[in-house]
Amino acid sequence: MPNRKLIYFSLGILLTFGLIFFGVNSHAQNQKLQVAFLDVGQGDAILISDGEKQILIDGGPSGTKLMEKLGEYVPFWDRKIDVVIATHPDADHITGLVDVLKNYSVDQVIESGAQSESQVFGALEKIISDKKVEKQIARRGMKVKLSDDAELEVFSPTDAIISGLKDDTNLASIVAKLTYGENSFLFTGDLPLEADSQLISSRLPLSANVLKIAHHGSKSATSAQWLELVHPKEAVISVGKDNRYGHPTAEVLSRLQDDKIRILRTDQQGDVVYDCASVKSDCELTTTK
Ligand SMILES: [Zn+2]
Repeated sequence: MPNRKLIYFSLGILLTFGLIFFGVNSHAQNQKLQVAFLDVGQGDAILISDGEKQILIDGGPSGTKLMEKLGEYVPFWDRKIDVVIATHPDADHITGLVDVLKNYSVDQVIESGAQSESQVFGALEKIISDKKVEKQIARRGMKVKLSDDAELEVFSPTDAIISGLKDDTNLASIVAKLTYGENSFLFTGDLPLEADSQLISSRLPLSANVLKIAHHGSKSATSAQWLELVHPKEAVISVGKDNRYGHPTAEVLSRLQDDKIRILRTDQQGDVVYDCASVKSDCELTTTK
C-alpha cells in the first residue's frame, strides 16, 4: 500500500528531525560552561564553550592534534569557533590556529599586537586576511562576552607594554580572566616575571579559582607574589611530556606546593576539563588520563 508507506516514511523523517532538534537543544541547555585545557603537547590550547558559542585561547604546536581535540569537544554540527585568541606569536601557541581558520568559520581573532618575523605568524596573518576575519587587538579593559553569565576581561597587554616591546614577545602575552558567577579562571599565555610584577602593581582583580600557569611552568614566570595575589585553588600546567625545556621547573612546582595549590598537568592528566553547571556552584573537574 503506497499510502501507508508514505505515512511511515513521513513519520520516520519527522522523528529523525525531532531527535536531532532535541539533541542539539538539550546539548546547548545542559552545558552551561566548559573550560577545557587541551592536551596538545608542548604548547597551549584552551577551549571555552557554553555549548553553542566557543572561544579558543591559543592553538598549540600542531594543527592535526588540535583538529583531533576540537573534534572531541565541539559538536559535529557546529562548524564555528566564535572567537579565537592568540595570546602571543610563539609557534607553540599559534601553529594550530592556522588549521582552525582553515576548517572552522571564525567570527573574530584577537591578537596581542606583538609582531613576529616567523613563518607561522606570517601564515596566520595571511589566512586571517584571506578569509576576511575581523581582527581585534587586545588591550587592558577589553571584554569578551560568551554568554549573559560568562565574560572574559583582558588585563594585559597595555599600549605601554607593546610600544616598549623588543625581542621578547612573551611580554605581550594576553592575560585575561574568565568569570562565571563564583567561578573564575586566569589565563596568562607565556607571561614572564617582569610583566607579572607590572600586573601586580596595577591593582587589578587578579584573584581566580583556577590559574593557567604562565609559560608551561618556566622558572622565569609565576613569582611567589603573583601566586599570593591570584590565590588559586588549582593550577593548570599545559606542557608536553619529556619536553626539551625541562618544563615545568622544580622551582615553580615547589612554589605551588608551598602554597598548597593543586597541580594539574596536561602531560600527566591529559585534557583538564572544568564543567560548570551554574554560576553558584563549583565547577566539576575531570581529566582524561
Ligand atoms: Zn609557550
